[in-house]
Amino acid sequence: MAYLATPTATGEVIKKYGFHFQKRFGQNFLIDANILGKIIGAAEITKEDCVIEIGPGIGTMTQYLAESAKEVVAVEIDKNLIPILKDTLSEYENITVLNEDILNVDVGRLAKERNEGKPVKVVANLPYYITTPIIMGLLESRVPFYSITIMVQKEVADRMQARPGTKDYGALSLAVQYYVKPEVMMYVPPACFMPRPGVGSCVIRLTRLKEPAIKVLSEKKLFSIIRAAFNQRRKTLANALANSASLLNDKGSPMKVTRQDICAALTKMNLNSSIRGEALSLEQFSDLCNLL
Ligand code: SAM
Repeated sequence: MAYLATPTATGEVIKKYGFHFQKRFGQNFLIDANILGKIIGAAEITKEDCVIEIGPGIGTMTQYLAESAKEVVAVEIDKNLIPILKDTLSEYENITVLNEDILNVDVGRLAKERNEGKPVKVVANLPYYITTPIIMGLLESRVPFYSITIMVQKEVADRMQARPGTKDYGALSLAVQYYVKPEVMMYVPPACFMPRPGVGSCVIRLTRLKEPAIKVLSEKKLFSIIRAAFNQRRKTLANALANSASLLNDKGSPMKVTRQDICAALTKMNLNSSIRGEALSLEQFSDLCNLL
């Protein structure tokens, strides 16, 4: 099977199988070999690596990954793509395709089974409708990964790198900056996909930090506070957190805090009690977490 990364080769596969693109699965296939080469380069894949690919589509990027890596495990939700992948990837012996929803896959367990628990590299042209839950899941569930190299909407790449006080700053920015170093590797225009998406895209590499960016007593508690703060971002931090049902304590059990507790903690931190969550840095969220 020839490489699929051209409009003609992709068009032929689509026609041969009578495949219909499904918008609900975020299907925009890459048709640019130059961009694919650059993604593999950015992910720094070697023959030592076990790669997990999310959403292989018709296998366009999977071909490149298989040639550079020791092993590839590709997780695809659309059952209509499974027979196509069987055909397009038939020449490769180091690929396993799983017909699953990535959000239901225990990626940590997969890494353990496939790579003896050693860190994997995750590479994907992500389905844009679930980018945030996929990234948050990989970051927060202690999946042993070395890096995650992904195509995302440009706007999501901006959110990952956003600083406090900006409109893009939120729970995704904080989770990314706590666990990984984000680096935008390239901008990818809509013309590199079939069909063309309505937005510009970026490839971003997230490299696991040796230690999280700051020390905190409980990650569970910290991220429950961050989530609650941004769930109601128009409210002041004290109002968003007071009596929130989603706060967790160090042990991961539900925890309630009063408005007074929060205002007292903010005063200790020399912050105004009417401050909003979007003004706090990662360090300040950590201080608040330790005080509550
Ligand atoms: N990797 C291919 C490429 O670059 O041409 C396809 C990328 S396309 C943007 C996203 C792929 O993710 C599609 O194949 C889609 O069916 C798949 N997908 C969507 N939701 C998924 C999910 N929840 N779990 C696994 N795969 C999913």
